[in-house]
Amino acid sequence: MAFLPFYIPKQKRLKVVIAGGGYAGMAALTVLSRYAPDADITLVDPHAQHLKITHLHESFRYPLSDLQVSFTDLAKRFDFRYIQAKLPMEKDALQQCQSDKYLVVNEEVVHFDYLLITPGCGNRDYESVEGVLSLQDFMTTSGSDLLSNSLTKQDADSEQTVTVVGGGATGIQFLFEIKQFLHRRRIKSKLRLIHSRERLLEQFPTGFHTYVESRLRDLDIEFYPNTYYQNQQDNKIFLQNKQTKEKFELPSDLSLLFLGKKQENLFEANCFGQVVIDCKPLANIFVAGDCSHYNSIGSNSLSAQSAVRKGKLVARNILRHSSILHLLEPYLHQELGYVVSLGHADAVGWLASQGNVISGMPALAIKELVESQFDLLLMGIDTYVV
Ligand SMILES: Cc1cc2nc3c(=O)[nH]c(=O)nc-3n(C[C@H](O)[C@H](O)[C@H](O)COP(=O)(O)OP(=O)(O)OC[C@H]3O[C@@H](n4cnc5c(N)ncnc54)[C@H](O)[C@@H]3O)c2cc1C
Repeated sequence: MAFLPFYIPKQKRLKVVIAGGGYAGMAALTVLSRYAPDADITLVDPHAQHLKITHLHESFRYPLSDLQVSFTDLAKRFDFRYIQAKLPMEKDALQQCQSDKYLVVNEEVVHFDYLLITPGCGNRDYESVEGVLSLQDFMTTSGSDLLSNSLTKQDADSEQTVTVVGGGATGIQFLFEIKQFLHRRRIKSKLRLIHSRERLLEQFPTGFHTYVESRLRDLDIEFYPNTYYQNQQDNKIFLQNKQTKEKFELPSDLSLLFLGKKQENLFEANCFGQVVIDCKPLANIFVAGDCSHYNSIGSNSLSAQSAVRKGKLVARNILRHSSILHLLEPYLHQELGYVVSLGHADAVGWLASQGNVISGMPALAIKELVESQFDLLLMGIDTYVV
């Protein structure tokens, strides 16, 4: 058993329930299994597989199954129990949970000493409309199948128009993969990007926008900034100019919506990751990942990087809290960088400081390095230094 400072295990076998097997949940699980291999851990998740969502745009190149890891296999690797279920995430019920120390999952009473909540952000709900796809569709079917099926319904000889809506990190990563996919498949097509703001990738340094905009021009991708998407009907997309309010339509055989996630159920936490309700921390209920906001100087960004760091921290804090000393560690992690891929051979990102913008193969290599760290973690090899 590996040694964790300030953790002196008690005699009792620790019971931990983790709700959500995404980046934060899996990171926490690997830490628990490393420092407390005899702990009784239950993971509850509505899906059968962990999805490596940061790679999702690559499903135009690889089968979706390459990005999924079955929870049953992970349960064997890390010795935990997996229950396929969706837990209600009501804040009011948590105070009751703190005093009861049990949950009812699929009509079974599951007792715990500690509960960790990591359900991520909710996805936006879209009505299913012919000719429109959203992120949710790509989570169940690979990009290559979705695009091939949607576009083969059209006349093969005529030029197809594909519209990507949303110039955030997800929309941009999908856009460049789609461009390369259409080229590989020799599909006669026109590609355009619609974005509601002036600048692409707004949360990042301006260099990101400048670089991506020049790549759009090189690849002949039409760009409409300051434009709101309204709807898609009969091979047309309906839009509105944000500044002039003028409404207009453009031909579009397929529209792909990447309008961002909604943080619908956000849990406040103290700097140790314990859920805070009515200004009081719940000692045995922790939270991590996109659904959490820690009251600390550490980064609360919606990124896999923060989710993993929070997940690992709360797992250590659960063990320390269960121990004799009760010495917990505050969350201090700052983002180390962020890279947005632009197809299989290009990327733009920042590293160490926001002023240090990098692009091309070096940026892509960093993205791959960071993502392979998480892949290794899922295999039981922890290479995270910070
Ligand atoms: C397409 C895309 C690309 C991205 N690329 C990057 C990137 O390159 N770099 C980066 O740093 N970040 C990236 N992000 C953001 C990153 O993926 C998230 O910040 C990260 O996944 C958050 O981790 P999490 O554990 O909080 O949630 P998630 O990873 O979303 O996991 C949540 C888990 O909880 C489960 N769950 C949901 N509801 C319940 C419930 N009620 N009960 C039980 N379980 C539940 C879900 O099934 C899921 O398994 C990307 C996001 C997307 C969508």
